[in-house]
Amino acid sequence: MDFLRPTTWHEALAAKADRPDAVPLQGGTDVMVELNFDVRRPAALLDLTRVPELRAWEMTGGYCRVGAGVSYATVIDELSGSLPGLAQAARTVGSPQIRNRGSVGGNLGAASPAGDSHPPLLAAGAVVEVESRERGVRMIPAAEFYLGVKRSALEPDELIRAVHVPPATGPQYFSKVGTRNAMVIAVCSFAIALHPRERRVGTGIGSAAPTPRRAREAEDLLARELDWSAPLDPALAHRFGELCARAAAPIDDVRGSAAYRAHALGVLARRTLTWAWNDYRRAA
Ligand SMILES: Cc1cc2nc3c(=O)[nH]c(=O)nc-3n(C[C@H](O)[C@H](O)[C@H](O)COP(=O)(O)OP(=O)(O)OC[C@H]3O[C@@H](n4cnc5c(N)ncnc54)[C@H](O)[C@@H]3O)c2cc1C
Repeated sequence: MDFLRPTTWHEALAAKADRPDAVPLQGGTDVMVELNFDVRRPAALLDLTRVPELRAWEMTGGYCRVGAGVSYATVIDELSGSLPGLAQAARTVGSPQIRNRGSVGGNLGAASPAGDSHPPLLAAGAVVEVESRERGVRMIPAAEFYLGVKRSALEPDELIRAVHVPPATGPQYFSKVGTRNAMVIAVCSFAIALHPRERRVGTGIGSAAPTPRRAREAEDLLARELDWSAPLDPALAHRFGELCARAAAPIDDVRGSAAYRAHALGVLARRTLTWAWNDYRRAA
C-alpha cells in the first residue's frame, strides 16, 4: 500500500488527481477501523494530517468556513457560540479521544446516514467546498451532498476543503437517541435551527433514511403558520413532529425498528422546536 504525505493543499490536490484511487485519511477514526477490520484494502492512503490549511477555520463572506480537518474538540472549544447546533452534535460524538481526532470533513467524507454532523449542517444551510486540480472549486449545498448510504457527490479526484456554515442568528438544537449516552451510533437524530430574520426554521434528520435529509414539508408548515410574536401553539408543534416523522424513511435494524425511529423522530422534532422557541421568546 502506498502512503502519500502531502504538506500543502496544492500537493494534496495533485496527489488525488494523479491517484484517484488513494483513500484520504484525516483523523482516521473511520478509515483505520475499516483497515483493521479488512473492510477495504486501498492501493494508497492519502494522509492529509500535514496539510495545515485543513485544520483552520475562519469567518469569511458571512460564513464560518470550517476546514475539513477541524476536529470535533475544536468545534466544541472554539465554535460553540457561532455554530451551536454543530457544537452540540460534536459533544455527542464518540469519546474525548474520537473528538480529538475525528473531523467534520471526515464525517462528510464517510457520508454515513448516522453521522452526527449532518443534521446540524442541513438545518443551518451549510455548503460543502470541494476541489480538484483539474476543475477547481465546487460549492455543494449540504442538502445536495448526500446521494445514498455512504455515498456523496464527491468525485474520485476531488477532496473536501471545508464546509461553510452560516453563523447562528437564532437558537439551534441537536438531539440524538441512542442505546446509551456515549460511544453510540445514533438510532435517530434531529437538528433544528431558527432563522428569525428570514422567518424560517431549518431541519436535519439523521439515521432515519438512506441519507441525512431535511424535513421540507415540516419546514414549509412553520414558514406558513408560525407566529413569531406569540408563544408556540402546541398543536402546531405536534403537526411539525408528525411531518418530520413522515419525512423519514427508516429501516429496521439492530439499533431500532423503523416504527420506533419514526416515533422517536416526531418526539425529538417537537421537543427541539419547543426548546428553541422558548429560547427565542426569552431573548426577544
Ligand atoms: C469509537 C468510535 C466512535 C464513534 N462515534 C461516532 C459518533 O458518535 N458520531 C459520529 O458521527 N461518528 C462517530 N464515529 C465515526 C467517526 O469518528 C466520524 O465519522 C468522524 O467524523 C470521522 O472523521 P475522521 O477525521 O476520523 O475521518 P477519517 O477516518 O480520516 O475519514 C473518514 C472518511 O472521509 C474521507 N475523508 C477524510 N477527509 C477527507 C477530505 N478532506 N476529502 C475527502 N474525503 C475525506 C476518508 O477517505 C474516509 O472515507 C466513531 C468512530 C469510532 C471509532
